[in-house]
Amino acid sequence: MNVLHISAECYPIAKVGGLADVVGSLPKYQQKIGMNSNVVMPYYDTVFSQNNAFKSIYKNTLLLGERVINFKILKLENTNLGYDLFCVDVPELLFKDYVYSSDDTERFLAFQIATLDWILSLKQKPNLIHTHDHHTGLIPFMMSQSFKYKSLKNIPTVISIHNAQYQGWFSHEKSHLIPSFDSENAGLLDWDGAINSLAAGVKCAWSVTTVSPSYMEELKQKANGLENLFSHEDTKCLGILNGIDWNVWNPETDPYLHKNYSKTSLISGKKASKKWLCNKFGLDVSKPLFTFIGRLVHEKGSDLFPAVFEKALNENDISILLLGSGDKETETQLETLKSLKNFNAFIGYDESLSHRIYAGADFLLMPSRVEPCGLNQMYALRYGTIPVVNAIGGLKDTVIDVDNKGFGICHDGVTVEKIVHAIERANTLYLDQKKYKQISKKLMSIDHSWDHSAQEYVNLYQSLIL
Ligand code: ADP
Repeated sequence: MNVLHISAECYPIAKVGGLADVVGSLPKYQQKIGMNSNVVMPYYDTVFSQNNAFKSIYKNTLLLGERVINFKILKLENTNLGYDLFCVDVPELLFKDYVYSSDDTERFLAFQIATLDWILSLKQKPNLIHTHDHHTGLIPFMMSQSFKYKSLKNIPTVISIHNAQYQGWFSHEKSHLIPSFDSENAGLLDWDGAINSLAAGVKCAWSVTTVSPSYMEELKQKANGLENLFSHEDTKCLGILNGIDWNVWNPETDPYLHKNYSKTSLISGKKASKKWLCNKFGLDVSKPLFTFIGRLVHEKGSDLFPAVFEKALNENDISILLLGSGDKETETQLETLKSLKNFNAFIGYDESLSHRIYAGADFLLMPSRVEPCGLNQMYALRYGTIPVVNAIGGLKDTVIDVDNKGFGICHDGVTVEKIVHAIERANTLYLDQKKYKQISKKLMSIDHSWDHSAQEYVNLYQSLIL
């Protein structure tokens, strides 16, 4: 079976969040179970593209409304990723040192059109097209409605929703940018008076998946306006829990760690990482270390962080370290909070530091209001770090509270009081070092590798291929 994943992000080429991790690892695991699964993404100006050789395999022009735009399809020459990587090179729109910006409608339309134009030219077409999030949500529409792509109509399409908060809205005035289609079917593009790329993907894809079973259920109640759509399309929707790249995220071999460790050397390994972190960030190594890694956005509960951290530090003998960036007001408040003795933050993005934090932390905080799957808690488990989470979406599917014979701390709802109470419970657990160490070891045995979920996708693909 020949499957093409089409995505705006893919680790290690370009990463903003979890989408990149999933698209960068799922195809590798699908290849392992015998599928020919590969990736198409935009060609950005990233460190990866600067340091790797690509070969041009296709050249053409695309039409974006009246605009004629040159593009190329580049293929990564080395094959170390474990799958073929194809990049769509549209220099004037996509070759930037960022992934997302304010002209994303045109940028991702050009990406999607170029990808389909190229697929149209292939002698051997993919057996299935797997799109991811709103950036590629118009592909199922174009494949089923645009006259130009009529010959691709019978190729099954899947759209995976990694985050339904972002939907790729734009005005119907720009509908002429989409390769022409029967205007009677323009309703397939519409949600609430605007073109909604995610909604169009959900309506037109043969199957819709989300990244955890609980998130699938939650979307019918809360989906940033698309609740009724998810309820209506229920029969073709399926929640499949994300896996993690078991090799990239492996404390035994992780090149970012100062001291690698396994289940048997967990205590000394984590101790070394914690010592390094505490030295670097001026924190007291004897106190339990609570951490956060991620985007500073409302979904992650980050607007409450300044109040939560101040209260938690006042009431508990702990340290807190944050790695993240996003909302400017929160960033400024966190910078100010650095004057507190047991708090520090790195405002920015740093892949190596994130690995070191997963390894050196005692607890990882995830008080998310929305968490489709969440990978951070799975990385924390893999590194023997106890997650402290709001029990929603994928967090609900992956973290069981210690009071229910589990291994994490769960709270029910996102308020300053509830998060601080969860931190207090975690602190109490930490003070019982025997129990804390037992749980920490247990975490490392929990298997969230892709092996199971990659097969679930294959089962889905097989059910769609006629
Ligand atoms: P989301 O996709 O909503 O941002 P996920 O939990 O699915 O959240 O994935 C987040 C990914 O991004 C993880 O790999 C996490 O380690 C990484 N990440 C987020 N923020 C940062 C940061 N500031 N520095 C390094 N890695 C980060």
